[in-house]
Amino acid sequence: MSDGTGVGSGARARPRLTVLSGPSGVGKSSVLAELRRMRPEIHFSVSVTTRKPRPGEIDGVHYHFVGLPEFDKMVANGEFLEHAEFAGNSYGTPRAPVEQALASGKPSLLEIELQGARQVRVAMPEAQLVMLAPPSWEDLVRRLTGRGTEDPAVVARRLEIAREELAAEPEFDEVVVNDDVKSAARSLLNLVVGPVPDA
Ligand code: ADP
Ligand code: 5GP
Repeated sequence: MSDGTGVGSGARARPRLTVLSGPSGVGKSSVLAELRRMRPEIHFSVSVTTRKPRPGEIDGVHYHFVGLPEFDKMVANGEFLEHAEFAGNSYGTPRAPVEQALASGKPSLLEIELQGARQVRVAMPEAQLVMLAPPSWEDLVRRLTGRGTEDPAVVARRLEIAREELAAEPEFDEVVVNDDVKSAARSLLNLVVGPVPDA
């Protein structure tokens, strides 16, 4: 009998690694914050980035904020499960916490961009790739500009990348449309802790 966390007993209760990707501004952070409230026992990977913190972002909670030399040292030491450059900054997933979570029976969730998702696909083929999509292109533009955290040149660059990311939808196992944060979080929860197919 599963308790719905992926931590239950039985051959089909292997914890699952889920990758959530989607264009900047689609609502990934909002949906993950909701999911965290619903299920604190899921392991949420905390990425390392060279980006400067936004107002309200806490080091060690939203990201580990580092300088480029430290980031490059972690790359050289093989500390990342995947890493990529995005709109002028570097981002990477520390490998050890993900492996520890899965080994201890917890489902693990990474929120990363497309290049990183592709690397995880190769490194861990059993991972499930989920794309969070906007209801429409206009909604995406409205959300990204409305957030007001990036200057117009960065918004334009992020929207340019967004077109490529949305075009990669067929590479993903599942698509969740973020029309409403709570229902998107519920759909994602079902995917993160849902039945794991036999290997
Ligand atoms: P991401 O992490 O994908 O870059 P955010 O979670 O920061 O995106 O969301 C971008 C903006 O869109 C924020 O201002 C957020 O409040 C808003 N937003 C997120 N989800 C929705 C939604 N379902 N409906 C309307 N606005 C949303
Ligand atoms: P932001 O600067 O808006 O927080 O994130 C920019 C992009 O980087 C988003 O698409 C986000 O999912 C992605 N990202 C965050 N952490 C990682 C990571 O560890 N690896 C990769 N490849 N992308 C990441």
